Amino acid sequence: MFEEYAKYIDEGTLNELKQLAKELKGVRILHVNSTKHGGGVAEILHRMVPLMNELGIETHWEVIRGNVEFFKVTKKIHNLLHMPGRETLSHQDVITYMRQTYENVSHIDTDYYDVVFIHDPQPLGLIVKKKQGQRWIWRCHIDISTPDEEVWKFLEMFVNGYDGSIFHIPEFVREGVQIPAFIIPPSIDPIHDKNRELDEGFIKSTLERFGIDPERPIVLQVSRFDRLKDPIGVIEAYRMVKRRYDCQLVLAGSFADDDPEGAEVYREVMEAKGDDQDIFVLNLPPDSHREINALQRSATVVVQKSIREGFGLVVSEAMWKYKPVIGSNIGGIRRQIINGVTGYLVNSIEGTAFRVKQLLANPKDREEMGRNAHERVRHSFLITRHIKDYLLVVYKLLKS
Ligand code: UDP
Repeated sequence: MFEEYAKYIDEGTLNELKQLAKELKGVRILHVNSTKHGGGVAEILHRMVPLMNELGIETHWEVIRGNVEFFKVTKKIHNLLHMPGRETLSHQDVITYMRQTYENVSHIDTDYYDVVFIHDPQPLGLIVKKKQGQRWIWRCHIDISTPDEEVWKFLEMFVNGYDGSIFHIPEFVREGVQIPAFIIPPSIDPIHDKNRELDEGFIKSTLERFGIDPERPIVLQVSRFDRLKDPIGVIEAYRMVKRRYDCQLVLAGSFADDDPEGAEVYREVMEAKGDDQDIFVLNLPPDSHREINALQRSATVVVQKSIREGFGLVVSEAMWKYKPVIGSNIGGIRRQIINGVTGYLVNSIEGTAFRVKQLLANPKDREEMGRNAHERVRHSFLITRHIKDYLLVVYKLLKS
């Protein structure tokens, strides 16, 4: 399978990757996160774990267990890390977190591994299982630079037990973290069904299936149903655009197993849609990779109007498909979009609407930005680069 990547990356990079894997032969790696489906972390692990094994590094993936109460608490932690002050973590929340953590401690075997990657705050407490000689890495996918202080104090006691941490961008690193911090942005896999080229027939039939008109412009946002993705803001921007330009809005989303708020947000979005026949709210099953691929390829303009964002894999996915993306000027989105070159960075609903109108009116700009966008992803955000960066961190922590 690895040879397929030669189409997208140079031979030197591929050889470096193989060499590094050879150096690390025999090292056993475990990834732990909180959901098998939904969201960027699961998306990446589904691809990365088999590829690391193919490279000859024994790699496994475990998912922590949790009931609704536990995931309500972890979602609260997630929100409070992103945006302090909206709610507080109660004593009961802490007890719920700790109780579930200890259950997970007993059912996840970490002793077998040399290196354990713990993704995000949900499984953070598993660090109590760390054995001598092992290296534990906290792979943080969210912005914790200005967290709620109480929540951070609670998590910090776990974080400081790790040997290293990895963040998407330097701005996300929390000042005062006492362990080494590495910067590694995520990636997309060009040979995954989500990103592979598709035949026109499938794209057409997908649009037909959802009742979307292929002849009229399509504005698309793909995101879990989460308030931090601001689906309502996207609808407002679309309504501003619609006063001047004919277009359809597609909000494609799904629920994640570890996010209990999804159903409620979905209802809010349906309410905001009202009886507008040109808004398509698609609640897709978790394995709809080809459908999302088809929607991204048929979009005229892609938006990602998140209020807070870790990275926003969907931005790279759309850019890979030669789409100019209009994204919020925050977090990892800012790292992917080069303003005015691959798409636009925006700061408001009005700004989003303005840039959508501009791109709808200028097919030449769309084409040129789309080409730049594809090249940017090819250069910086493919999975081969990502695996290489991870292996370098493993090498550094184990061998130096
Ligand atoms: N995704 C999906 N179906 C959906 C919504 C999202 O498969 O209905 C995928 C999307 O294509 C991307 C990932 O989930 O690969 C979302 O990652 P991102 O970093 O954009 O956001 P997160 O959900 O992790 O906050």
